[in-house]
Amino acid sequence: MSHYVWSCPVCKASNLTSSGECSACGCQAQASQQEVESRRAAFEGSSAGGIPNRVRMALGILAVVGGALGIVVVGWQMSLTPPFFVSRFLVFLFAVAYVFSIWCGIAMLRRKPGWLRFNLILWGAQVLSIATPVVSYSFSSGALFGIWAQFSPIRAGVHTWIGSRFELVFWRDAPVVLGLNLFALAITVYLAKKALHRAAVLDRGRAQ
Ligand SMILES: [Zn+2]
Repeated sequence: MSHYVWSCPVCKASNLTSSGECSACGCQAQASQQEVESRRAAFEGSSAGGIPNRVRMALGILAVVGGALGIVVVGWQMSLTPPFFVSRFLVFLFAVAYVFSIWCGIAMLRRKPGWLRFNLILWGAQVLSIATPVVSYSFSSGALFGIWAQFSPIRAGVHTWIGSRFELVFWRDAPVVLGLNLFALAITVYLAKKALHRAAVLDRGRAQ
């Protein structure tokens, strides 16, 4: 039994019969051909979020490659992790994160619904890293360029990494270190701006 009865001619979203307009882009089910075409032109522009194709391809490929490398690293880490359920589970979480990275990359390359939001989550999760005696966390997929600061003794530096790396550890005797991945921050801010712009365009489309 299928609840989907019409596919939006503008954004391809599936909609319920009962709704007269597309839940994703606001296009009327009964829109004229002319209206569909003008909406489609606006939607293509906004669904790319104004992101140039070259940038979208590069970020998509980076997320896919980063995710694939991440899964290799997870496999390798798993072989080094003591066979305790909690330790292995923490490593396993990153397998999920890297599968998510691959999925985000594919969604971005193919402009699947929600790709902008999901890529925001992917890059947002990579912005901050922290090491403390209680919890240490870092996650990067594909590449990292950032700065870090340690508090006692005071030290700071620049950190670059090509590839994928991650850490989630509790209760470890370690100095407090904060890291800021500038590369992920720049992409997060860029995507967030595009997402806001896109939301504004779609709102305008709905209001028409
Ligand atoms: Zn639509």
